[in-house]
Amino acid sequence: MISADTDIKPFDVTAIRKEFPVLQRKVKGKNLVYFDNAATAQKPQVVIDALVSYYQQFNANIHRGIHSLAEEATAAFEATRDTVKDFINAKYREEIIFTHGVTESINLVAATWGRQNIKEGDEIIISGMEHHSNIVPWQMLCQEKKAKLKIIPVDNNGELIMDEYEKLITLKTKIISIVHASNSLGTINPVKEIIEIAHQHNIIVLVDGAQSAVHLDIDVQNMDCDFFVLSSHKIYGPTGVGVLYGKKELLEEMPPYMGGGEMIKEVTFDGTTYNDLPYKFEAGTPNIADTVAFKAALDFVNEVGKDNIRKYEVALTKYAMNKLSQIEGVRLVGAAKHKTSVVSFIVDGVHPQDMGILLDNYGIAVRTGHHCCQPLMNRFEIPGTVRASFAMYNTKEEVDELVKGVEKAVKMLR
Ligand code: PMP
Repeated sequence: MISADTDIKPFDVTAIRKEFPVLQRKVKGKNLVYFDNAATAQKPQVVIDALVSYYQQFNANIHRGIHSLAEEATAAFEATRDTVKDFINAKYREEIIFTHGVTESINLVAATWGRQNIKEGDEIIISGMEHHSNIVPWQMLCQEKKAKLKIIPVDNNGELIMDEYEKLITLKTKIISIVHASNSLGTINPVKEIIEIAHQHNIIVLVDGAQSAVHLDIDVQNMDCDFFVLSSHKIYGPTGVGVLYGKKELLEEMPPYMGGGEMIKEVTFDGTTYNDLPYKFEAGTPNIADTVAFKAALDFVNEVGKDNIRKYEVALTKYAMNKLSQIEGVRLVGAAKHKTSVVSFIVDGVHPQDMGILLDNYGIAVRTGHHCCQPLMNRFEIPGTVRASFAMYNTKEEVDELVKGVEKAVKMLR
C-alpha cells in the first residue's frame, strides 16, 4: 500500500507552474485545476513565444524559397526535425516525417505500407486497449483487403495477456499495431517484448506513442520498433503537428501518401518521380508555425528532465490513487504495475458525466466518457470513467482539491 504522505518534491513545481500562463486563470471563480493532460497538455510561455516570433519575424513558405525569410523558416522547421530525431533517438533525420498528429500518422501507414503489403486473408494484430485511431484505420484496411483484425485481450488489471498475444500470431500475421501507454488506464505495455516476439516471426510493429512520448524515455533504436508515432500537443507543444518515425528501409519501400507539391522530384504529364525521404511523405505546405514551436516544447521538456518529471508524476499518481480509493463508492479502473500518470475511476451510482460537470463547477478539469476506447470500456462493462491525468505542473494540493470535489459530488449525486 502506498503511503498517503508520499513525499513529492523532486523539483520546483512552483517555478514550473509560472511557465504556464493558463494555470493562472480562474474557472467558475476557482483556481483552475487542469487534470486533462492525456487529452492535451498546456503550453509553456516559450512555446507561445516561439509561435508568435515565427509569425512576427520570419513567416515564409519553406524549402523552395531563396530569400532570407524562407531560409530562416526552413532552418527553424528542419531544426525541429533534428530535435525530434534526438528526442526519440532515431538513427537518421529522414526517418522523421511530420504529419498532423498520431491519427494521421497511423492512417498514413495503413494507407501506404498497408495497401502495399496486406493481401486477402492476411492478419493484423492490435490490442483491446487501443484508441479508436489505432483501430479504425486497420478496420478500414481489413475491409478493403479482406484481411482479419485480431485483438490481444486485456486482463482485469488493465494489462495485456501476453500468452494470448503469442497464440494470435500465425504465418498470415503481417503487422502488429500497439499502444505504448493506454490513454484511458495509463497501462504501460511491454512493447520491447512484443516487438522481439513479432520480429522472430518477421512481423513489423507500429507503436502508438501518443501517451508515452511525454512521460517515458523513448529510444526507437533500442525498442527496435518499425514505426513510432506521436503528437506534439501531448508533449506541451502546439496542436496540429505529429510525427511518424519509420525505419528508413521501410519508408523507402512505401508509396507516397498524398500527392502534391514538395513530395516530387519531377512532374511531367507522362509521370512523376517522387522526392527523397522525408519529403516524399510531406506533400503541400506543412504546419510550419506549429512545427517550429514544437521544438521549444521538446527543449523545455529536455531542460526540466524527463527523469525528474517521471519521478514526480509517478509520486503524484500514487498519491491520487491512494486518496481516491479511500472514498466510499469509488472504484479505480486499471491497476497495472507500470503506469503513466493516469487515474481512471468510477463511482457507484454516479454517471461519469455528472461527476465531470460537478468537478468543473469547482474549477477542476477532468475527462469523462469512453476516452475514444469504446471496446476497452465494453471489456470492463462500463459506459466510461472519470479520468484525471497529471502533468509536470500539477500538485499534491490540486489532487487534494480533486479528492474534496469527488467527496462532495458523491454526497450530492448518490
Ligand atoms: N492514441 C492514443 C493512445 C491517444 O491518447 C490519442 C489522443 N487521445 C491518439 C492516439 C490520437 O492522437 P491525436 O488526436 O493527437 O491524433
